[in-house]
Amino acid sequence: MKTVEKIPYTGKPAFPVPTNLSGRTVSSKVLPSHLEKLAVVYVRQSSPKQVLENRESTARQYAFADQAVAFGWSQERVLTIDEDLGKSAKTTEGRSGFERLVAEVTLNHVGMVLGLEMSRLARSSKDWHAFFEMCAIFGTLIADEDGVYDGNDPNDRLILGLKGIMSEMELHVMRSRLQRGRDNKAQRGELFHAVPFGYVIFPTGKVDFDPDAQARGVVQLIFEKFEEIGSIYGLFHWLIRNAIRLPIRPQTGAKKGQLDWRRPSIPTLAQMLRHPIYAGAYTDGRRPTDPKGKFSSGKRYRPWVPMEQWKVLIKDHLPAYISWDQYLKNREQIKQNQNGSASSGVPRSGAALLPGVLVCGNCGRHMQPSYHGNDTAQYGCNRQYVEGTDPRCYGLAAKPIDDLVAQQVLAALEPAALDLSLKARGDVERERKRLEKHWQQRRQRARYEVELAERRYQAVDPMNRLVAASLEKRWEEALAEERQLQEEFDRFVRETPLQLTEEEAARIAALTSDIPALWNAPGTTNADRKQMIRCVVERVVVHVRCDSEFVDVTIHWAGGYESQHEIVRPVATYAQLRDFEQLMNRVVELREAGHTAPDIAEKLNAEGFYPPKRRGEFTTPVVHQLFKRRGLIGNERSHNELVGKHEWWLTDLARELKMSHLKLRDWANRGWVHSRKTPVQGYWILWADKDEVKRLQKLLADSRRGINAYSSELKTPKKRPAAR
Ligand SMILES: [Zn+2]
Repeated sequence: MKTVEKIPYTGKPAFPVPTNLSGRTVSSKVLPSHLEKLAVVYVRQSSPKQVLENRESTARQYAFADQAVAFGWSQERVLTIDEDLGKSAKTTEGRSGFERLVAEVTLNHVGMVLGLEMSRLARSSKDWHAFFEMCAIFGTLIADEDGVYDGNDPNDRLILGLKGIMSEMELHVMRSRLQRGRDNKAQRGELFHAVPFGYVIFPTGKVDFDPDAQARGVVQLIFEKFEEIGSIYGLFHWLIRNAIRLPIRPQTGAKKGQLDWRRPSIPTLAQMLRHPIYAGAYTDGRRPTDPKGKFSSGKRYRPWVPMEQWKVLIKDHLPAYISWDQYLKNREQIKQNQNGSASSGVPRSGAALLPGVLVCGNCGRHMQPSYHGNDTAQYGCNRQYVEGTDPRCYGLAAKPIDDLVAQQVLAALEPAALDLSLKARGDVERERKRLEKHWQQRRQRARYEVELAERRYQAVDPMNRLVAASLEKRWEEALAEERQLQEEFDRFVRETPLQLTEEEAARIAALTSDIPALWNAPGTTNADRKQMIRCVVERVVVHVRCDSEFVDVTIHWAGGYESQHEIVRPVATYAQLRDFEQLMNRVVELREAGHTAPDIAEKLNAEGFYPPKRRGEFTTPVVHQLFKRRGLIGNERSHNELVGKHEWWLTDLARELKMSHLKLRDWANRGWVHSRKTPVQGYWILWADKDEVKRLQKLLADSRRGINAYSSELKTPKKRPAAR
């Protein structure tokens, strides 16, 4: 079977061209009707490389323009389409030139299409058949180096069809030949497309360690650390914490082949740890291409296959960073880690309502639910795990936010729909009244015009014929206008929308009031509720702050409306309560006013305070806990947090000054030093910064020298700075 036989290029047309007496070529198939339309020369080479290297063929393709002239077309009626030079798509999709050619043919603009090995312009037999069928319908001839074909001629059809099959065969043979060559190279362990970081390919095709010592060092370090830490996540975070970057040599772009230090990512590390090259093994077919994927559009899915299915595995073929055993151990470790997380992390019933809708206000990632125990779900932002960034985003319990959104959705669905429909009803009525009034006025005006014209006609002397005739005409016109207006008005009445009847309004009201019932119905599953939420809510953004139990929530409704809300999340400690200071001040205040613990608990509850974790209300024991925190019970002297900046317990300052604490207390009583007492037990706390300590030392020295009349300068404490 003749499959690949190239016709040598001689610079002359390869097919015999009859000429007529005037020296012009003729073909019995080229008719005047064809010559009226365009001749299109379609030029293409499948890859940019071919365009560069196969100039001869390109020139030959352009030469078809001369051929068209020889057939009888004038120079300006020959259109050359060469947009697809260098496009190698194996189907006709994505080849704009071919699409243009098809468009021209279907617009019946084309008398003949010329091209080299025409059957190849459609790279699959199916495309080719579709193309020549179309040419047949529009009476477009096809010409290649072998001759001119008419799709309506049975013999030509046969040849065109065969050509298509041949080129498909040829393509297949070429492909398999290429594939075989590629496979042979891979079997020898010599086929490399790219190597992972830590290795380089030399122009000779040899693969070796990266010549950069630091790059090699990082690779070694990663393997050592993985052995120590045992998880990709752990390794990743360790690298981030220590600001270690990966030595990547990009395969394309401005920095091609140069070392580029890049931030690690989990997928990169996972691929690296699974790559057998680091153990010195050559492999091929770890991730084979799927031939079925070739003709489908979109991204091809290429799954990794297990080791037994790799096409080639040659151990000890390349320089190694780790041993083969270590490599297998790492793989096993990764596999185990995955198993562990898969069994625990899969959400079961999915009690949380907002996965896929809830967005972290801090980083914009979707928040993922996790489930603890029976029904308690927690939303968390997993940015820190994925990116290894600092500071982390905070999560929150699912219930408060789920409840808020559910409540808002129900609220939105119920009255809004009802309001809207009723509002629409009101609008229609108002609009109609307004228009009717306008129509009324127009009709009155028309009537007036008619009467006016009639009166004028009546008033004129019938003998004055000219005037009477024009007035009569005017009267008739006015009558016609009025009639026309009446018709328009009738049309308006017919076309204005019908009003909602009471019945209809009631039905809408009933429908909308059913939604809360539906929501709470026993048969409604959480999946249904999620669906309902997604109908009306686009996303929910939460801003969770670590130092506050209040969470700002923005609900983005379908249609662009946003609403702001605030929820209170249970927090674990008092320190996380936003109003903690206020709460403590109130407790101290009440305590100093002489209230008992049960009393205070009652008051705090009444005033809207609440303890962390939202564990019910304040009770006597909880208030006692607060007292303890502020040193309000127990020995206050043991609560050093009561002492502020530059403040001293009386005894401590006395010791510092090496004087009697009784004397110091006397000074405090006299106001010679700033002082205060603890709220409950009345321990002295004195204020003295460096200068004050010096002044007190001088005062003490004077008193020791027996000077009784202390200078007022020494007795007056310095002005205390405003509260810290
Ligand atoms: Zn986040």
